[in-house]
Amino acid sequence: MSWFKSIIDQKKPIRLLKNILLNSTIPSALLFTGTDGIGKSTAALAFAMACNCEGGEAKPNNGQFADEYLPVADPCGCCRSCMKIQSGNHPDIIRVEPSGNFIKIRQIRDICNTLSLKPYEARLRIIIISDAQAMNPQAANALLKVLEEPPERTILILTSLQTFDLLPTIVSRCQNIRFSPIPREKIETFLIEKRGLNAEDAAIFSAMANGSIAKALSMTIKNSQPNWICLRDRVLNVIGLEQTDSLSLQPIIIFLLFAERLSKNKEIIQDLLEIIKTYLRDLIIYKYSPEKIVNKDLILKIQYISRKISVKSLLSQIEVIQTAQKDMKANTNLRLTLEIMMLRLAMVSP
Ligand SMILES: [Zn+2]
Repeated sequence: MSWFKSIIDQKKPIRLLKNILLNSTIPSALLFTGTDGIGKSTAALAFAMACNCEGGEAKPNNGQFADEYLPVADPCGCCRSCMKIQSGNHPDIIRVEPSGNFIKIRQIRDICNTLSLKPYEARLRIIIISDAQAMNPQAANALLKVLEEPPERTILILTSLQTFDLLPTIVSRCQNIRFSPIPREKIETFLIEKRGLNAEDAAIFSAMANGSIAKALSMTIKNSQPNWICLRDRVLNVIGLEQTDSLSLQPIIIFLLFAERLSKNKEIIQDLLEIIKTYLRDLIIYKYSPEKIVNKDLILKIQYISRKISVKSLLSQIEVIQTAQKDMKANTNLRLTLEIMMLRLAMVSP
């Protein structure tokens, strides 16, 4: 099995990574950007395996590597090194993730301590910093120092939603590899073919997945909580989008915060906002090509409301929600962000 091939629909970034591996000119830091659940972490792991696979060709190299082997474009997945990396037991493949909402200075200091020692056994030690945008300012500055003086035989791989979530000084020291959201139609087909969903459900879930195959899968796991279709109906009901006058402020905030508490997961609010956006988009699409709406089971409701709201005001509403989503990712005060969002939504005239 090709480890890179298991990543769906990311031909360009994978080709770039393979070129880096084949040319054996590996930069000391890489930055993988793109939405959640589109293969950034899998690619980082595959890259770590490719750098250290024992199936590589023996050739003299430029001294970047500890022994005479070169990286491979496709790790074998079954040598000792590949197996250790897959099982998470390789001492030189180190992963850093947010603890709570942030990556803290302590976590970066731990990395610095590790980096002061030589790698145990890896040809190239790989430090993977997931969700690097979650670094607090102290952590980011500490990491910057590491990037300024790249340690020997070590590659840092940062993953992040987008480059402007990070300090420009960090971005400029990394080679950026962009991962694209997966087109909705591809996710839809995937859900129908691999998950056995009917066309109607597949259309709804693929729209809510926001370009992420992992998200689409997690939402369609049988008996998974919450039940997304029910949740959609609840949220549309509470937000009062059936009416054309301004949205009711208080109930939706209470509902969103309740949903968050219920799931103990801020992500669920992002998902609920995605549901609302898809619905608003349907109201626009219905005006031009009604057969293309996502929420096909709600067509009568959409037909009724779509006539009463202008495209301009729907676009403004979508924009307001997008801004709130961005602010939430930047770890601003959740309740305040939601309140500002609702006030701005209420100010949009029909
Ligand atoms: Zn291998």
